[in-house]
Amino acid sequence: MKLLSIVVPVFNEQEVLPAFYAEMAAMLRELPERVELIFVNDGSRDRTPEVLKELRRTDERVKIVNFSRNFGHQTAVSAGIHHARGDCVGVMDADLQDPPAHLAAMVAKWRAGADVVYAVRRTRQGALWKRACYRLFYRILRSLAAMEMPLDAGDFCVMDRRVVEVLRAMPEQSRFVRGLRSWAGFRQEALEYDRPDRASGETKYSLSKLVRLASDGILGFSVVPLRAISVAGIAVASLSFAMIGFYLLWHFFGFRILGHAPQDVVGFLTLVCLILFLGGMQLLALGIIGEYLGQVFLESKRRPLWVIASTAGFDEPEPNRDDCGGTTR
Ligand code: UDP
Ligand code: MG
Repeated sequence: MKLLSIVVPVFNEQEVLPAFYAEMAAMLRELPERVELIFVNDGSRDRTPEVLKELRRTDERVKIVNFSRNFGHQTAVSAGIHHARGDCVGVMDADLQDPPAHLAAMVAKWRAGADVVYAVRRTRQGALWKRACYRLFYRILRSLAAMEMPLDAGDFCVMDRRVVEVLRAMPEQSRFVRGLRSWAGFRQEALEYDRPDRASGETKYSLSKLVRLASDGILGFSVVPLRAISVAGIAVASLSFAMIGFYLLWHFFGFRILGHAPQDVVGFLTLVCLILFLGGMQLLALGIIGEYLGQVFLESKRRPLWVIASTAGFDEPEPNRDDCGGTTR
């Protein structure tokens, strides 16, 4: 019988955990798979550890990973995925914003052959400005990322074992899990849903944590912001050369612009030329440094170079441990 692992990161979720567990357990009764329910307690300061212990006392499918402090949602998800043993691994929030019934639908798609089924938020609750920011963020990320990035998809998903192995092979520190999941490739399918509001308690994602997540997403999957410096450098340097040429012409031909001739202010020409030239050169130099920094950045992530789904014509029937290749790890 196949094993389904469900990873649930929790941070100060004592209010919502009993309701989450009840709804989850009811849903799991309908599934044919064996189940492990992995709660990653991300340094909760409320009664969450006790509530989890209590759940484990009555249900041995419940497994607990306690962090020594709050490491953040993405790290908690990564740790949960690392500990999961399932043939299929699901990731969901504890606050019932990711409905268990929807997880069942995603597992069904996995059974039908999908390697990743990710939930796409058709609509979501909450303040208008926050929703607008989420929408904008996913569109910016998609346009900057070096690969196909789905819109409005969070971490709520199920993944086949082979995708989990790819995620585990990625040694990078700053983990934008939904991006890494897309990076892995294989057969990825979307399943839309209307994201409800949190069942109880307050959001555990402070504004600063959200900004951090967004910047991890963009910085981890795009060198476009860095490249933009080079482009700006080349643009300003070109502009400065054009203006130096123009000021030289002005100087030699001495025509009047808005009633002014070049000899009205002595030394003006020299100053303008110096400022423009130095400014342009500095940006250009920054851009070149940026290009090298971009290379260092890409190398330092040590991601596998490729991920192989299958091969044919080699001696071994199935390539296994070498599926993620081309890294010097
Ligand atoms: N979470 C976590 N560590 C954190 C913040 C949040 O493990 O530092 C968990 C939280 O308990 C929940 C999930 O991540 O299960 C999503 O957080 P939340 O619902 O507060 O975020 P929102 O849905 O408001 O964006
Ligand atoms: Mg939530």
